[in-house]
Amino acid sequence: MTGRPFTFWRVLPLPGEAASSYFSRLVMDECAHLPELYASEIGINAIFRSEEVLERIFRLPISEQDKERLRYWTPLEKHGRIHLAGQVFGRDQFRWTRRLHCRRCVAETPYHRVWWHLQCFRACPVHECALEPLSYDLKKTGRWWPRFEHVVKERAVHVELGDAADTFESHIVRRLLDVSCQDSPSELSDFIECAPFVGRLLGNNRNPSIPPPSNKDWEVGYHALKGGLLPFEDQVRSWLRVNAPQSHAYLVRDLIGWAAEYLADEEELFDPEIDDLPNPMHVKISAIVRAECRRVLGR
Ligand SMILES: [Zn+2]
Repeated sequence: MTGRPFTFWRVLPLPGEAASSYFSRLVMDECAHLPELYASEIGINAIFRSEEVLERIFRLPISEQDKERLRYWTPLEKHGRIHLAGQVFGRDQFRWTRRLHCRRCVAETPYHRVWWHLQCFRACPVHECALEPLSYDLKKTGRWWPRFEHVVKERAVHVELGDAADTFESHIVRRLLDVSCQDSPSELSDFIECAPFVGRLLGNNRNPSIPPPSNKDWEVGYHALKGGLLPFEDQVRSWLRVNAPQSHAYLVRDLIGWAAEYLADEEELFDPEIDDLPNPMHVKISAIVRAECRRVLGR
């Protein structure tokens, strides 16, 4: 099939909307078919790739600006990584199969926000509630097409984060929305990787074994890192004051317990053939923690 995949294109792509959600809404506006059925009728694979969904949609005479918006918000897989909104995420950070959403966001404007696919995204920053499992296709696994109660045709909606609390999730959304951001493409992914470690260290007292993961790890880590590495250094210093060393303290481990094993190696022998690139943020964090420990140990 080479012609247009739809006879109408009255719905418009929305901020944070990937091609799969937009496709579902185009189908809803067209007919009563389920999106997965419609997709298979026009030859899109059950395990669809973003590229092919975009390709079908781009056959429609929609504006270049809308195409650009869809391209920006549609995750593309390249070399085992997910490229989305100018950022690059690891495979374990983004899951197509994640079936969570904020019911209240969808009730206000029915479309699927792509950041709900990020594994670290647990609470809606707008409504301050936990994301919930989808209520349809409960037994299905794998990639899925979102479904909605009704079609929204307005251009409308900015993502309103105005009064939203300053949370880890609100940071992610703001960061993804920032089209002009000049940071390195892995900056957000590195941040997401570092936040729970930092949160678990600073949010607990010294412990020889690693404390169980907790939701607060993300928030504590986010607030410790959001201001950059200088304020982080201060927080490590005050944590070390609160968790004062015992008299026999000699090693970094004596000061920070379990976390010593999770610091990036100082003289890490890095082989680009075998190893993933070290997370530069984790390397910097580790250096700060080590330096503060040395200061306390007096060497
Ligand atoms: Zn919400």
